[in-house]
Amino acid sequence: MEKRVGFIGLGIMGMPMAYNLIKAGFEVVVYNRTVSKAEQMVSGGAKKADSPRELAAESPVVITIVSDTPDVESVILGENGVIEGIKPDSVVIDMSTISPQATQKIAARLKEKGVHMLDAPVSGGEQGAISGTLSIMVGGDAKIFERCQSILNAMGSNIIHVGRNSMGQTVKLMNQILVAGNLNAVVEALVFAQKSGVDLEKAIDAVKGGAAGSWQLANLAPRIIRRDFQPGFMVDLMQKDLNLVMDAAKAVKIPLPVTSFVHHMYYSLQSAGEGKSGTQALVKAMERIAGVEVRQLP
Ligand code: NAP
Repeated sequence: MEKRVGFIGLGIMGMPMAYNLIKAGFEVVVYNRTVSKAEQMVSGGAKKADSPRELAAESPVVITIVSDTPDVESVILGENGVIEGIKPDSVVIDMSTISPQATQKIAARLKEKGVHMLDAPVSGGEQGAISGTLSIMVGGDAKIFERCQSILNAMGSNIIHVGRNSMGQTVKLMNQILVAGNLNAVVEALVFAQKSGVDLEKAIDAVKGGAAGSWQLANLAPRIIRRDFQPGFMVDLMQKDLNLVMDAAKAVKIPLPVTSFVHHMYYSLQSAGEGKSGTQALVKAMERIAGVEVRQLP
């Protein structure tokens, strides 16, 4: 089992995930574009590399969790990228949410160098990253998955090998369809309850343990009624994911009426300058239609 892991991307998700690897006893080498975040982790036990290339040269397993498809392509395939430093028979695990088609191309480029790839996107949000309880959906060779299982175990609690390369990303898109529809139902319900004069805190408590209970309801509805729109997961990143969903749906000619409605509601937030808010800001778009503001009574 590899004890050394290279980790690229110390954002909202990446930093706590890298800390969990350190806690589990791995030697972690980190790289982050904004150097101060990597420096912050050195005092927490990590070693800092100055480029993805330098990191890959000393890491038999390299994890990436950066924003979008071009960012993953840049850190893995770009100048001073992972591909320039990595040794044959090493493994790249991309945990970002990106295009399934691009994932196949990146895996093929790495294979030319004798390097294996797993696409292993995550669900569970910032809280799941901190507590090491992420759901991880993994695409790639089953033997490579087995080889990396102890590393994935340090970051997640529900880790499923779902098929060949790119299937992890495809299942993540399915996850985002579920998230979008569910959050849409949560904000619709809150707007209705507000206008009907219900005590929102009590209402959420009353329904969250029953058949309507969900992660979105339990975690985001309480923030919405406190008007807390800090991001766990940003609107701009959700739109990145919903663009990937729409492209994938077009390719297989499947209509996604509710998901595409939510995608357009998020455009209205982006155009109002709310792209850096958390996804729970969806309620603001619904409030504009309904002419009511959701807020817990003091
Ligand atoms: P984030 O806080 O914005 O962090 C993004 C990270 O990527 C930062 O470390 C950033 O570096 C790095 N980065 C972006 N573009 C780069 C580039 N071109 N070259 C090098 N580094 C680059 O985002 P996040 O919320 O952690 O999300 C990361 C990934 O996880 C995304 O694909 C997202 O869809 C997915 N995800 C997020 C959540 C969530 O709840 N947040 C849940 C599931 C999945 P800097 O520090 O220099 O900006």
